[in-house]
Amino acid sequence: MTHYKTPLYGQTAIVTGSSAGIGKAVAKTLAKAGANVTLNYRSSQEAAEEAAHEINTDSDAGTAIVVQGDVGQENDVNTIFKQTISHFGTVDICVANAGMQLDHPLHKMPLEDWEQVLRVNLTGQFLCAKAAILEFKRRGMREDVSKSLGKIIHMSSVHEIIPWAGHANYAASKGGLLMLMESICQEYGPEKIRCNSIAPGAVKTEINKDVWSNEEGREQMLKLIPYKRIGIPEDIGQVASWLASDQAEYINGTTIYVDGGMNCYPGFANGG
Ligand code: NAD
Repeated sequence: MTHYKTPLYGQTAIVTGSSAGIGKAVAKTLAKAGANVTLNYRSSQEAAEEAAHEINTDSDAGTAIVVQGDVGQENDVNTIFKQTISHFGTVDICVANAGMQLDHPLHKMPLEDWEQVLRVNLTGQFLCAKAAILEFKRRGMREDVSKSLGKIIHMSSVHEIIPWAGHANYAASKGGLLMLMESICQEYGPEKIRCNSIAPGAVKTEINKDVWSNEEGREQMLKLIPYKRIGIPEDIGQVASWLASDQAEYINGTTIYVDGGMNCYPGFANGG
């Protein structure tokens, strides 16, 4: 059990797609800041349980449970929320992290791969935000733990603003997420719900292992990063934990780029 006055003490977070990668690091960092955490997975039960075990055996962290569910299915998202509320009492923080890529040149992209990426990366974010807002409004303000009624963090990407040839479904899903996040901010800010996005650049996880796991791929990646370091999941976890806390209370309706400067068009560094 964490100490009273850790930034997220007494709060509960759901992190979708958190058996590995960025989601796992976010879940661990939120727990370290005092939150109880639901780790959601779609198919990797063992990895999710291992991540929960790491949290539950850390005497400085909150408690973790594991709930299966596909974020693209409304019934599954409702189950993730119901089980969390029945175990921890409510939800204060929703980190809609789950995401995927199915890459093809546009003229060869099967409709089902277009639809699947949009379903997980955009519809899944909508379903999580909807369930979170319903719970925040049902539960009402808890001024003893936070100045906000609730916090939604969407895991976006630099590709919400940088076009990405060969990945149009992914870029379209993240571009759509920018407008979803800003519209939620406009609609629910007056009720003290904060909604923001984090946009990672290149972070070493399974999603891009084919690139960073070989020397040539690493070099290509580094050319896109002014700071000359590939990100690690903990870079994102730290920002998510701070963004969820009252230290970031006045941040609403924005995207925080955590990308070593990737969004600054490094291709133009030497005159273009
Ligand atoms: P990852 O593949 O390790 O993690 C994605 C997780 O989402 C996996 O655990 C996967 O099982 C889960 N998931 C996929 N579909 C799901 C579904 N329908 N329901 C529930 N869970 C599902 O990759 P990651 O890099 O950790 O990605 C996390 C998020 O960060 C994604 O939204 C991704 O788009 C975003 N992101 C990652 C990078 C990067 O460089 N790694 C860059 C920008 C954005």
